[in-house]
Amino acid sequence: MSDSGPESFEATPRDSSDASFLRAEVRIDLDAIRHNTARLVEASGSAQVMAVVKADAYGHGLVESAFAARQGGAEWLGTALLDEALILRAAGDSGRLLAWLAIPGDRFEECVAADIDVGVSTTWGISDLVTASRSAGRPARVHLKVDTGLARGGAFNTDWPALVKSALVAQSSGEISIVGLWSHMVFADKPKHPTVTAQIATFNEAVELAERMGVTPEVRHLANSAATFALPDTHYDLVRPGISIYGISPGPEVGTSSSLGLVPAMTVVGRLAQVKRVPAGQGVSYAHLYVTSGESTLGLVPIGYADGIPRHATNVGPVLAAGKVRTVAGMVCMDQFVLDLGNDAASEGDEVFLFGPGTRGEPTADDWAIACDTIPYEIVTSVGPRIPRVFRGGR
Ligand SMILES: *Cc1c(COP(=O)(O)O)cnc(C)c1O
Repeated sequence: MSDSGPESFEATPRDSSDASFLRAEVRIDLDAIRHNTARLVEASGSAQVMAVVKADAYGHGLVESAFAARQGGAEWLGTALLDEALILRAAGDSGRLLAWLAIPGDRFEECVAADIDVGVSTTWGISDLVTASRSAGRPARVHLKVDTGLARGGAFNTDWPALVKSALVAQSSGEISIVGLWSHMVFADKPKHPTVTAQIATFNEAVELAERMGVTPEVRHLANSAATFALPDTHYDLVRPGISIYGISPGPEVGTSSSLGLVPAMTVVGRLAQVKRVPAGQGVSYAHLYVTSGESTLGLVPIGYADGIPRHATNVGPVLAAGKVRTVAGMVCMDQFVLDLGNDAASEGDEVFLFGPGTRGEPTADDWAIACDTIPYEIVTSVGPRIPRVFRGGR
């Protein structure tokens, strides 16, 4: 981590991206992702680590982030969509890889051919994978998912034996290989919640039932980031951290980013497009929801809700500008918002920091989540593709 930190962004010459940083950029510190992954490897004990890189690696850039996580020691990568896993294969990743959110008609055959494991919750999923296996000429590798109480994906208790049975039938004819048994937590970020022990017990029963029926799983897995840190009983053979790979705490009851030894990897920077003096009593932005208290300098930040800045940041979103943390003045618009810089000096083209690791005094994604009444997951994944990602470190 010696060469990471915001200063080194300026120190590192950027070729093509230099010219394009006119309006805004998202700086991704791949050394931080590598460091965080190594930290998860440490926290998971003897279990392997699957770095979850769904949703463009939580907005951090799928391929670059995935490679950094591999360097940090992730033996597995996990995606929601089959499409996301196929992008990783096309980019040259050849390690263990699981995708778990498929719909009928999905790209099963391509995934089987590309050696991608698939999460399956339904008997139609088994049938589709059997068909895919015949076309691809090799067995489909599946992870059978049991619903232990989240009531989202997964086979619910009464459907579990039928799912296991259909997978075993397909395995005996060589079309499927049952690699994993898995489930997902409801309240891992509230480690003392009563559903936690209930879910672990239900998972153990489901695994035992499958084993009695003849399954010999290579990996059993249940833990997300919160469970990896707070619930060692959920580690089994493999853990699936996502948000912590990017340096963000999964929740205040689990710890802070720094108490968990994590380094936030994303910094969102904009440049002031216009700076002007206005009198006291001036209403600012649509609906004049902010009014200047004295004569003041307004700075226009050319980033808006079309870039993923929540409209809920209106009058509350924190931004480091002209040496101080300010709050957004008035309404966040589609492409822009305004800051009241008071009487501090600022020029057009100056950098302002929406959030980052906090090392230069800028707010964090956690600060934005609190201000906007959401979770930092939504803050980082919402930052849109209109703002270019600039990578440093890694590879
Ligand atoms: C997103 C996701 C994870 C990662 O969760 P974090 O809270 O980001 O660590 C793990 N498993 C599944 C099934 C997921 O959908």
